[in-house]
Amino acid sequence: MVVLVFGLLVAIVAPAIGRYTEDLNLKGAVDQMANAVRLTRDRAMATRIQRTVHFEAGVSGTDYHAVDASGAPQGGWKLPRGITYAWLPGTIDSVTVTPDGRCNVSGLVILRAVHGAQDTVSVLTSGLVLTQ
Ligand SMILES: [Zn+2]
Repeated sequence: MVVLVFGLLVAIVAPAIGRYTEDLNLKGAVDQMANAVRLTRDRAMATRIQRTVHFEAGVSGTDYHAVDASGAPQGGWKLPRGITYAWLPGTIDSVTVTPDGRCNVSGLVILRAVHGAQDTVSVLTSGLVLTQ
């Protein structure tokens, strides 16, 4: 009886814990991505050289990476396991930051967890990078 109750509890609680962990990963992923874009912007302004972030999964062991104006790599980052891009209307696959701190596009980068939850990084031409 105790074993049965315990088994039922695990069956009920385990998926909730998995989902909770995924939600934390999703939140962490958008925060990390926003920080990476902000860092890239800071570096573009500090070096007076434009930089571009490409949102491309599985390139050289990264899921998004920065390049300078000559295309030289300037760092890369990975998404947590189970977090992928959601290529919905309004999403962008790259953003270029000019030395004045402005972005060439306004758009969204939407990340999705396995169970379907989504979170968004918003990039504005003003250079503002927001999470929602
Ligand atoms: Zn690239």
